[in-house]
Amino acid sequence: MCGLQRYFISSSNFSDNEVIITGDDVHHITRVMRNHIGDKIICNNDEGKAALCRISLIADNTVTAEIEAWLVESVEQPVNITIAQGIPKGDKFELILQKGTELGATCFIPYQAARSVSLWDDKKQAKKMKRFEKIVKEASEQSHRNKVPTIKKAMNLNALLNESKNYDVAIFAYEEQAKVAHYQSFGRIINELLPNQNLLVCIGPEGGFSENEADLLKESGFHPVRLGPRILRTETAALYVLASISYHFEELRCDECQQ
Ligand code: SAM
Repeated sequence: MCGLQRYFISSSNFSDNEVIITGDDVHHITRVMRNHIGDKIICNNDEGKAALCRISLIADNTVTAEIEAWLVESVEQPVNITIAQGIPKGDKFELILQKGTELGATCFIPYQAARSVSLWDDKKQAKKMKRFEKIVKEASEQSHRNKVPTIKKAMNLNALLNESKNYDVAIFAYEEQAKVAHYQSFGRIINELLPNQNLLVCIGPEGGFSENEADLLKESGFHPVRLGPRILRTETAALYVLASISYHFEELRCDECQQ
């Protein structure tokens, strides 16, 4: 299956035995991949279920594909990980979206941190959102994800503290923890995570967290954690988090089940 092109199609386009594909995906199927009737593709619905499909009809603006089988695979991380990323400079946020999607993030929240140099007003954000959604969709197709991560509107600290009430565990990667001998270990947090829990991870911008921010995050139940002893760039930190959780749940445990 792994060589087949994957498309993310709204569940409303699925019927019992076929999928109606519209929009940019039609162009990709007919012009980029030059598929024909009888060719196979994989269609993922909103719930992350993947169907092996056979193209049965190609019209000007739609492609119809028969559902041949529902695939049981899931490559989603066992924990739902939301990255609240301190808005970084330039286009680093796009890099974090792409790499974070490959590493299994469930959701991204641009966080207007106290030391974020870039300020995203609503107009600026609306313009960016289209590009952001294209990045996570393409990265999901490339990495054979079952689901496309969601991207929420930018939040300030108050909104983020409020949002954190929807999560089982909330942490913030606190650089000051990398500068002290007795630090809060990220490993302990991961060890206590349970499959299907919702984890919220807040990462600071290039300038890090202000003391006031750190205090308010702690008071609201965010655990400050260290991401190793080195100071990572803001765009590296989220990737360290996602890779660590993947290793713990998807590789380390796999070894155990091989024994
Ligand atoms: N200006 C800060 C300083 O000099 O200490 C560094 C901020 S760092 C470039 C950007 C963000 O990455 C931090 O706010 C934190 O969220 C995260 N980060 C980087 N290295 C980290 C580490 N070793 N432990 C925890 N968080 C880290």
